Amino acid sequence: MREIEELVRPNIKALKPYSSARDEFKGTATVFLDANENSYGSPLSTAYNRYPDPLQIDLKEKLSRIKGVPAGNMFIGNGSDEAIDILFRIFCEPRVDNVIICPPTYGMYEVSANINDVEVRKINLTANYQLNGEAILQAADSNTKMLFICSPNNPTGNAINAAEVEALVQHFDGIVVIDEAYINYSKQPSFINLLTKYPNVVILQTFSKAWGMAALRVGMAFAGDIIIKYFNKVKPPYNVNLSSQQQAIEALDNIEWVNTQIKETVSERQRLVDALRELTIVNKIYPSDANFILVKVVDAKAIYDYLAQRGIVVRDRSRVELCEGCLRITIGTPEENDIVIQTLAKY
Ligand SMILES: *Cc1c(COP(=O)(O)O)cnc(C)c1O
Repeated sequence: MREIEELVRPNIKALKPYSSARDEFKGTATVFLDANENSYGSPLSTAYNRYPDPLQIDLKEKLSRIKGVPAGNMFIGNGSDEAIDILFRIFCEPRVDNVIICPPTYGMYEVSANINDVEVRKINLTANYQLNGEAILQAADSNTKMLFICSPNNPTGNAINAAEVEALVQHFDGIVVIDEAYINYSKQPSFINLLTKYPNVVILQTFSKAWGMAALRVGMAFAGDIIIKYFNKVKPPYNVNLSSQQQAIEALDNIEWVNTQIKETVSERQRLVDALRELTIVNKIYPSDANFILVKVVDAKAIYDYLAQRGIVVRDRSRVELCEGCLRITIGTPEENDIVIQTLAKY
């Protein structure tokens, strides 16, 4: 197995990172004239004239107590999409290196690879949406740098078998990125515990789903010291704005609210499944550990249009390989779910 440092792009290893005013002065002071900020304040009720903490220390320390991960093993991004992009820039030499993804899965892995001009090798999930571990290891070569695993997986909704994930972490000679955007809705525990055992694991989580803060763009990556060191080297200096940092900190004081909504979403998920199962237009509902369900229907395109004409938007996944005929439906409020159920019943 290669060391993490051997997987890093040579230009990134050699990179001298941007040094901000806040990086260069760490003491206490009362007069800050080092960053060309507007000393007079902001034309707003809250002052936003100072650059935010580049390393989001307050947020990380608070998160640390909740996640049981040291603050030094966290990266906070402008959404987890930023973490995905930075991973490509750390590890993948454009037009030389490649990554492995397991479709059907989250679209950003491939888009981020394309933006970075990195080859994508696709090893489809099996018929029951689990990993094909043998094919993944066979597809890897010396230029394969990362493997993306999404659990619970989007758009299928299922959690990925934990023993199979750990076996891949052990045998895949590269970085294994485990995207847990939907972990809060899952019966299966987080893979975050793998971090203490394996240096090649990156866990992605986000404030965009269960935390209800998609608009604020706050994503998390948890990883070993070396990987976090490179995240901090490559990231834009002030990648998470002050308002988002503050609101994420405030949200962490309201875990009870989040847990209540998670319970409600999970119980609504079951209610929606039970109701849709009764409909003749529904052929199959895949088991979900997320806040959405993948539903195979008799005529996905027609049903999608029918719903859209009535102001209900779901996601048409029917042209996605292994999701033929399927719509992905996010779990709504009880009222919204009632509307979906009643409207579909009349189709
Ligand atoms: C929604 C989602 C994300 C979240 O991305 P953010 O940039 O944090 O909003 C990440 N991964 C998956 C699989 C998702 O479905």
